Amino acid sequence: MKKSGDTGQRIALVTGGNSGIGLAIAQRLHKDGMRVVVNGRELQPSGQAQCDAATGTPGALRYRHADMRDPQQIAALIQSLEQEHGGIDVLVNNAGLQHVNPIETFPHAMWDEMLAVNLSASFHTMRLALPLMRRRGWGRIINIASISGLRGRAGKSAYNATKHGLIGLTKAVALETADTSITCNAICPGWVHTDLVQRQVEALASKEGLDMDAATARLLGLRQPSGRFVTREQVASLAAYLCSDDAQEVRGAAWTIDGATTAA
Ligand code: NAD
Repeated sequence: MKKSGDTGQRIALVTGGNSGIGLAIAQRLHKDGMRVVVNGRELQPSGQAQCDAATGTPGALRYRHADMRDPQQIAALIQSLEQEHGGIDVLVNNAGLQHVNPIETFPHAMWDEMLAVNLSASFHTMRLALPLMRRRGWGRIINIASISGLRGRAGKSAYNATKHGLIGLTKAVALETADTSITCNAICPGWVHTDLVQRQVEALASKEGLDMDAATARLLGLRQPSGRFVTREQVASLAAYLCSDDAQEVRGAAWTIDGATTAA
């Protein structure tokens, strides 16, 4: 494996990585020997504390605050990786948010925020990180999309639009880097039990007057044939594979990990 950076370690950035799937990916890449910078919208001390609590080893994950809605903060984040760590080898665009509402009453501000975080932020991180990867001659970009990037669902106009867009962006960047050792792929999870999904469980429970177990079973029954959640560690393992040299020719994929949901 080609090494980079002044300590010979690969440098990884995981956006929105202080919770859920992103945190699991950050922990896995750290375990695999990378130096991992975790971004989040939490302010610096509390974000670092979240990372320290998750690993049990203070500083194992390096936290860096930046609001992914703001291109200037994104530019400063990528610049800090170059200045403090010598570059970036692995970029995981994970930050994202979900809101379910019919389009006629979908809040404008939420549409704008979802477009900014779920889609535009990845445009900015990729356009800024790619020159650094090209300089090192190696790179891995992993965009956390969703099965909502492959199919539609009522109430998810913004989520569907941004996740479809993210897969399109992934394909274009994969083609633009196809003759290099930089790859760009998307992971499309089905239901993974994180805060983002818990909020949907709670909304369903309150709408239908269900307890949490019944709401969870209803949500899974709606569209995950396995009847089980995908785990965040399973998503992290797939990300680790995409970072490996074995995955060198996996390019432009929208790789599902969804309990057979999109097989139907
Ligand atoms: P999560 O809410 O734990 O993680 C989302 C992260 O994005 C949070 O850390 C949040 O703080 C961060 N974020 C949101 N706005 C931000 C901003 N402006 N700046 C910086 N960070 C910001 O939920 P999760 O389920 O772990 O979601 C992670 C990714 O996985 C998302 O892109 C989501 O769409 C995707 N996904 C999740 C599921 C699932 O079932 N949980 C399924 C498919 C795809």
